[in-house]
Amino acid sequence: MPSPVGHALAGLMVGLAMRPVTLGTLPLGTLGTVRTLGTLACAAVLPDIDFLWGRHNMETHSLGAAAIAGLGVLAWTRGRNPRLALAVTLAWASHVLFDWLGSDDTAPLGVMALWPVSSAFYFADAYVFEAISRRYWLPNFLTHNAWAVAKELLILGPPLLALTAFRSRARRRCRHPGTASRPRA
Ligand SMILES: [Zn+2]
Repeated sequence: MPSPVGHALAGLMVGLAMRPVTLGTLPLGTLGTVRTLGTLACAAVLPDIDFLWGRHNMETHSLGAAAIAGLGVLAWTRGRNPRLALAVTLAWASHVLFDWLGSDDTAPLGVMALWPVSSAFYFADAYVFEAISRRYWLPNFLTHNAWAVAKELLILGPPLLALTAFRSRARRRCRHPGTASRPRA
């Protein structure tokens, strides 16, 4: 299962794909964008908070929890920003997707993806991402985790850069609408 780095990158990708996302009803410019991207990166990492109460990969690692997170944002913004609520739901769901696709070395394998409908664990057997080792006493602890994070950057870096470039071009076109297609005299 990916590291917090991989999950945060997924949250950023959701934010870039869904821009412009605004907080409240006002577009907050660059600050709003940074804040929103930070919020989505946190939402994508947050399911691993279940380490704190010893139910890792269970309820928080589900589409049900993703929906609850989105509803929480909808309530927090008093219904004024359904777009941000959807973005948070998707960022949270990206964590479920990535953990499902990743390697796992602790039984039961996978995530409780369909909670509260089902408490079954789902595991894709795809091994796209490496499992992050928490066995700090093993000699390969650092090298293995460094490789795991590097692999995440190799997989997620190119689409993230492509999205960033695409969004920058779209923003430039919005600022200078006349330059794209000028009517002929
Ligand atoms: Zn997780």
